[in-house]
Amino acid sequence: MKLDIAHVAQRAATGLLPEDSRVDALIADAFAHAAAHSEGAVADYIPALASADPSLFGLSLVDVHGEAHEAGDSGVEFSIQSISKAFVYALLCDEVGHEEALATVGVNNTGLPFNSVVAIELNDGHPRNPMVNAGALATTALIPGADAEARWLTIQHGLSRFAGRRLELDEAVYQSEMAANQRNAAIAQLLESYGRIRQDPAEVVDVYTRQCSILVSAHDLAVMGATLADGGVNPVTGERVVSAEVARDTLAVMTASGMYENSGEWLFEIGLPGKSGVAGGIVCVAPGKGGIATFSPPLDAAGNSVRGQIATAYLSRALGLNLFASASHFTPKE
Ligand code: GLN
Repeated sequence: MKLDIAHVAQRAATGLLPEDSRVDALIADAFAHAAAHSEGAVADYIPALASADPSLFGLSLVDVHGEAHEAGDSGVEFSIQSISKAFVYALLCDEVGHEEALATVGVNNTGLPFNSVVAIELNDGHPRNPMVNAGALATTALIPGADAEARWLTIQHGLSRFAGRRLELDEAVYQSEMAANQRNAAIAQLLESYGRIRQDPAEVVDVYTRQCSILVSAHDLAVMGATLADGGVNPVTGERVVSAEVARDTLAVMTASGMYENSGEWLFEIGLPGKSGVAGGIVCVAPGKGGIATFSPPLDAAGNSVRGQIATAYLSRALGLNLFASASHFTPKE
């Protein structure tokens, strides 16, 4: 999709955000700019999401000192959906370590939609990455816990530590997706047939669907992103949630696959790790600087929030966040 940011000057990435008043001003500019866009459509394959208000729009940046800069509906809650995949993957990596995480779910983009079955078949049943449904189901299956209930509580507790507050389940979204979950059930059974998950596939789908139905606001997501930006320490609570190595590995995987088959375009325009969800959330991480999160339900064809992409692209440029943007330090030799 066209991001409409050609007029925003690209600043080089430095180690620091500008001063707070400048960040506040650019948040307001990015919000106003993206709010003028009304393209996209609200997801309707999960019936409970179809009634979302397309005019809701929240934007939040939380820096690595825990300072929040926000605009619009940044406190409105919505279901985290696929954004949970990044944080559950981080919890798994913290549990099993770098090598085993890599062997279990892989780190390469599928180039195919998030709920693709073809991607599994093309790779001998080995999920290619944890940011799409097949890899996410395999990840959720490996979260420690004696049974499905215990695994769910581990996930709920872990995501709550990332957010710095207790996150609750949206029961209506959970029930609605469970009733329309044939595709995820099929993916889990396919993974079982390849020996990639050993638990009851129906239980794995149940825990995964609960994890996707966790309620967050854009502010919560920005804190969660800031935790990954801050070497795994939540900058609001001061709690270490995962190791610095796990934060790094999670961001690498988000960079390659967080925006599904559009991850390359996202990287080209924004140059940062990001993860989107079908309820309209996006979390984006500027390592060492902070987390940016947006909430706006209308999505593009790949399932990524339209206003969220525009606002984040604006901020990436104007705040100098793009990891690939440098300025020359060349000085002629004496
Ligand atoms: N719960 C959703 C699903 O599995 C999450 C997908 C998404 O956010 N892209 O279909």
